[in-house]
Amino acid sequence: MDNRTGKIYKAMSGFYYVEADGETVECRARGRFRMDKITPLVGDLVKFSDSTEGKGYVTEILPRRNAFVRPAVANIDVMVIVAAAVIPVTDPFLIDRVTAMAQSHDCEVVICINKCDADPADKLFDIYTKAGFNVIRTSAKTGVGIDELSACISGKVCAFTGNTGVGKSSILNAMHPGLVIKTGDVSEKLGRGRHTTRHVELFKLSNGAVIADTPGFSSFDIDQMEMIMKEDLQYAFTDFLPFIDNCKFTNCSHIKERGCAVLEALDNGEIQKSRHASYVRLYEQAKNIKEWESPDYVKHSAK
Ligand code: GDP
Ligand code: ZN
Repeated sequence: MDNRTGKIYKAMSGFYYVEADGETVECRARGRFRMDKITPLVGDLVKFSDSTEGKGYVTEILPRRNAFVRPAVANIDVMVIVAAAVIPVTDPFLIDRVTAMAQSHDCEVVICINKCDADPADKLFDIYTKAGFNVIRTSAKTGVGIDELSACISGKVCAFTGNTGVGKSSILNAMHPGLVIKTGDVSEKLGRGRHTTRHVELFKLSNGAVIADTPGFSSFDIDQMEMIMKEDLQYAFTDFLPFIDNCKFTNCSHIKERGCAVLEALDNGEIQKSRHASYVRLYEQAKNIKEWESPDYVKHSAK
């Protein structure tokens, strides 16, 4: 059949496993993708044509909501950032890097504070609720908050991210008994990760959520995330948006300009101190990005 539409759930060794109408079709990509410098990604909605033996060809990639480089995955609806106030204690800067990256990719953010049986992480909870994020406290150990998180991601394609040991695998296992992602101590996981091929797959949970994950190893590697250009960074801090419009200055960096509306909001406590500090840190880093390293450059050259 020509021109069926489906979604790529798995990519491996040059094959794309496309799901459509409840069946999986093993597809190869047509050669012209390589000429256009675009490769199908897990998570892509595609057109494909198939033969009778359940095999086929991907012929077209439908427009993407977003795409990530590492891991190589497209169309993530929600990024779940897992944090904790017990070891490994989450640095707010890490959360801010990920929220900025997610929001610059048109990706919803849920901040999940796990291990709240051991520490409710009041400080993190306060910062991120005030900054307007959806914050959910969970304990994979006692089950607190797992249903709430589950309801919040149901029907969406999600990615989990956060330090190793923060409880990502435990949460996924608690939401979907039988999924059995291996949990374990940090040293063991880091050792394993180094030797693992980081291919991605979409897993369906019983709550209707779809998780983008590397089998046996959760999930988005924070250290591999792309940088955001300094001019774009302000828009990736959604809690700054109401003030950016009031800023008198065009091209304001919102870092030291006198009369800057963002800095005023910071002084009034309308913007959280740690959020602005992270913005400044990312801005300083972004100053060093060269044109060819920018995500936009990658995006445009990939078309
Ligand atoms: P991951 O690396 O983020 O996937 O973390 P894991 O799910 O492997 O969890 C790391 C360790 O933290 C394991 O020993 C878990 O048993 C423990 N852990 C996970 N969630 C919780 C929780 O909610 N409370 C407590 N006290 N420990 C947890
Ligand atoms: Zn400003």
